[in-house]
Amino acid sequence: MTTKVDALGRIKAIVGERGWVADSAALEPYLAETRGLFRGAAAVVVRPGSTEEAARVVRACADAGVAMVPQGGNTGLSGGAVSPAGSVIISLARLNRIRDVDPLTYTMTVEAGCILADLQAAATQHDRLFPLSLAAEGSCQIGGNLATNAGGTAVLRYGNARDLVLGLEVVLPDGQVWDGLRRLRKDNTGYDLKNLFMGSEGTLGLITAAVLKLFPRPLDSATALVAVRDVYAAAELLARARGETGDAVSTFELMNRTCLDMVLKHVPGTVDPLAERHAQYVLIQLTTPRTDAGLTSALEDCLARAAEAGIVRDAAIAQSDAQAKAFWRLREAVSDVQKYEGGSIKHDVAVPISRISEFIDHATRRVEAELPGIRVCAFGHVGDGNVHFNLSQPIGMDTPAYLAQWGRFNQIVHDIAADMDGSFSAEHGIGRLKLGEMMHYKSPVELELMRTLKRALDPRNLMNPGKVVPFGGETMHH
Ligand SMILES: Cc1cc2nc3c(=O)[nH]c(=O)nc-3n(C[C@H](O)[C@H](O)[C@H](O)COP(=O)(O)OP(=O)(O)OC[C@H]3O[C@@H](n4cnc5c(N)ncnc54)[C@H](O)[C@@H]3O)c2cc1C
Repeated sequence: MTTKVDALGRIKAIVGERGWVADSAALEPYLAETRGLFRGAAAVVVRPGSTEEAARVVRACADAGVAMVPQGGNTGLSGGAVSPAGSVIISLARLNRIRDVDPLTYTMTVEAGCILADLQAAATQHDRLFPLSLAAEGSCQIGGNLATNAGGTAVLRYGNARDLVLGLEVVLPDGQVWDGLRRLRKDNTGYDLKNLFMGSEGTLGLITAAVLKLFPRPLDSATALVAVRDVYAAAELLARARGETGDAVSTFELMNRTCLDMVLKHVPGTVDPLAERHAQYVLIQLTTPRTDAGLTSALEDCLARAAEAGIVRDAAIAQSDAQAKAFWRLREAVSDVQKYEGGSIKHDVAVPISRISEFIDHATRRVEAELPGIRVCAFGHVGDGNVHFNLSQPIGMDTPAYLAQWGRFNQIVHDIAADMDGSFSAEHGIGRLKLGEMMHYKSPVELELMRTLKRALDPRNLMNPGKVVPFGGETMHH
């Protein structure tokens, strides 16, 4: 067993000056947290340049009992990459090579530090699609995406991050490397280990590389911003659109008028594409790798029929790529603009798709009754049964007084989701933020299973401690 001081010297020797950050200004981006709810306290960031270096760093930390916090783009929304005092942040940013693209197998083997948008571009260069897409794609890393099992706007068609992976390379908490970089569609040789690490938010190991699935590149697309009668009509429109367009719906995103108003107010250059105000909007996108599908007319016909049925109130169908991008901008800006409207209490809820409208309706009435003037900013991936049910403070209310009610509103909203067999964290994970919810809503059996896995892989609790799963000794409520 080496001491902590020895370990830091050893790690510095492994990664060299380029891989060592200890200056306070340079540390800042690694310690800040996206939502400003937490702040990291690590004194050192280590940036290994290869899997082998990463493994040696982990072994040095393990030998000295130093806690490690894996970090990708640091865009996570649950405080998973927040570093406790005395820990070392291991940043994957320098592991950013695309090791291989295999267009025939429809795969790409990439290192964990690759920026998501760069991988989308690399796939396009090979006439393929890598479909994972989310508003943080310009800075989040694929390792972080897999560690959080990210969702985003293409889940409806292509699945979550974990569905897009065939193989993984992982540095285990003791410094061993598991090379599971297989490109196989079929491989029933024992337990599916890769799925243990995806969604584990860095608590079981350091993902260093992955084999990703690619898809045929879409050659035709149609995009519309649609005003629907209400949230129930949104669910009806999705079911119809899937049936009437040959299942070409790849994105189906909801946002209410409160969200749109915030975007129009705070994002220069944005305009409302429709003449009148409506309560609920859907951004719908159809895509296909075919060139003869006529998606724009299929979408027009579908929306016209839905309008006759009273489901759709109005719609703008994009006439150019620029217009489609402008519609997307309205949706993507929603995550960011809420911060200009004072305190926001956030929820990332999933319920069965058939109940998503009922959830939004019921939860909206409930929180409005609890606090008149509260502004429900409900948006997100309703095509997956997932809504970001965010609550902006009443105009003029004192922000700290509003945010002091965070726990109370969480419980109201999460209880409604739980009653509908839903989840309190659809795609943002647990991190530090939702540990309490984890203890409250997960059954003792499920929690104990998770702890058993954590203890088996990381018996000394050195890999991202204090995240996702209570390690032991904590009181469990249920
Ligand atoms: C504007 C905005 C929009 C967003 N939209 C979405 C969305 O639509 N869908 C969605 O799912 N998320 C969304 N997010 C959340 C976030 O972008 C994702 O969770 C993303 O996948 C995190 O990637 P990252 O590289 O930034 O990871 P980080 O924030 O650095 O880390 C996240 C977690 O993963 C762990 N981790 C990171 N890299 C590794 C690794 N290589 N090995 C092991 N563990 C690792 C960390 O320890 C931490 O627990 C959004 C965030 C923002 C700011």
